Amino acid sequence: MKPPDNEFDAIVVGSGPGGASVARDLSCRRKKVLILEWGDNDPVEGSFVQTIPRAFLPGKSMLVTRQMMGIVRAITTGGSSLLYCATAFDPPVEMLKAHGVDISAEVAEIREDVPIEPLSDALMGAGPRGFFESAMDIGYDVHRLNKFIFQDKCRVDCQLCLYGCPHGAKWNARNLVDDALRSGARMINYARVEKVLIENGQATGVEYRHNRQTLRAYASKIIIAAGGIGSPLILRQSGIEQTGRNFFYDPLVYVYGTIKGLGNGRSVPMSAGVHFPDDGIVMTDFNLPHLMKILFDLEVFKIRQAFAYKDVLPIMIKVRDDLGGEITPRGWVRKPLGKQDKLRLDKGADHARRILANAGATDIYRGWRFAAHPGGTVKIGEHLDSNLKTVYDNLYVCDCSVIPEAWGLPPTWTLLALGRRLAKHLTARDRVAVPSHFN
Ligand SMILES: Cc1cc2nc3c(=O)[nH]c(=O)nc-3n(C[C@H](O)[C@H](O)[C@H](O)COP(=O)(O)OP(=O)(O)OC[C@H]3O[C@@H](n4cnc5c(N)ncnc54)[C@H](O)[C@@H]3O)c2cc1C
Repeated sequence: MKPPDNEFDAIVVGSGPGGASVARDLSCRRKKVLILEWGDNDPVEGSFVQTIPRAFLPGKSMLVTRQMMGIVRAITTGGSSLLYCATAFDPPVEMLKAHGVDISAEVAEIREDVPIEPLSDALMGAGPRGFFESAMDIGYDVHRLNKFIFQDKCRVDCQLCLYGCPHGAKWNARNLVDDALRSGARMINYARVEKVLIENGQATGVEYRHNRQTLRAYASKIIIAAGGIGSPLILRQSGIEQTGRNFFYDPLVYVYGTIKGLGNGRSVPMSAGVHFPDDGIVMTDFNLPHLMKILFDLEVFKIRQAFAYKDVLPIMIKVRDDLGGEITPRGWVRKPLGKQDKLRLDKGADHARRILANAGATDIYRGWRFAAHPGGTVKIGEHLDSNLKTVYDNLYVCDCSVIPEAWGLPPTWTLLALGRRLAKHLTARDRVAVPSHFN
């Protein structure tokens, strides 16, 4: 017998951009929604100490490959969007259309609902301006990037984006979760879902760990949105074996240089960028909080440089990696960087060196490699149909794992649109209008 307070119209597992988007829209359509989130829901303090467990806990929020490349994912309400740089790259509408998924309407709707605009002149810090001007001077096709930022709350002399933004300026998936909760959704934090309950080929609920107990919750629709690494693990435990292989993680590297008189080192990261779509490279300014920069410098034994912050301009190179690898049964990432991936990183780093040298930088050096967008582990067309449904009835996936091809760009706008499209699909017969504007 299922207790009635444990039965829902939909259970959404994970509250990153994909999960929060679908949970919010279903709740606004009067569905009874339960969000199960592994991480905390503590208010953002904007401190390094609070960010450690959310982003740097080995085996949980920081997964390290055999080549010692760290892959960051935030385990907290809002998922990685809590720590993200709030850059809104145009979604790959045509690529998804080729897989039978048309999100063009939802992309346009999200654009109306969420702040998506380049930063004003007043919010462009000295680092981004130095990057922009030097790149333009050499002839790069450099642009200001769209940002998910409430610019009236943003501060130019701030370094706290990557710690979650305590000023409420950075729009993130928590804004959607708040909307969902206001519309009646329930969220349980510190709830780690282990598997989906399947009866006669249909998903009926999930089993999760909470307060050292194994509990169950039931719903007529289950949406797995535990991110590119979390979702395939849950699906495998539920009998969908072939997920979690042949994926991307968008590796990145920083190149640093010191430009005398540049400024205090603080600014919104990724304010401007250059995209080389054919080469699969994107390059942006990337001011880091000082403590993070110290950690990253120590990784490459740059002891003296670790204490330099003022006048330093970090440039980030992110590349489209070839598909490959495996998420291990224990949730670790086994995927070596391929030869082409390394060449792309090298080529990008050469562009960055040119821009820094042209800006008059000295002491130019390269940092260690990271990755921050694991995805493609539960692909549309391979594991999911074009409505994001798995082989089991009532079981859907909606997060970065569904992206069917290596793409190489930050995916949040795309995931928000996919979440909205899925909510429309799940309520197609209900004819309930959903209020548009997100908070
Ligand atoms: C430092 C950094 C900077 C970034 N900058 C940008 C940017 O500027 N622009 C952009 O578009 N993207 C950026 N990204 C990427 C973006 O944040 C992620 O791609 C996006 O958050 C992925 O969303 P998702 O829905 O796939 O899942 P996630 O955000 O990974 O969320 C998954 C959620 O599921 C929860 N979860 C996992 N396993 C379980 C389980 N078993 N049970 C219950 N809950 C579970 C997690 O705690 C998490 O809350 C950045 C990422 C990082 C780390």
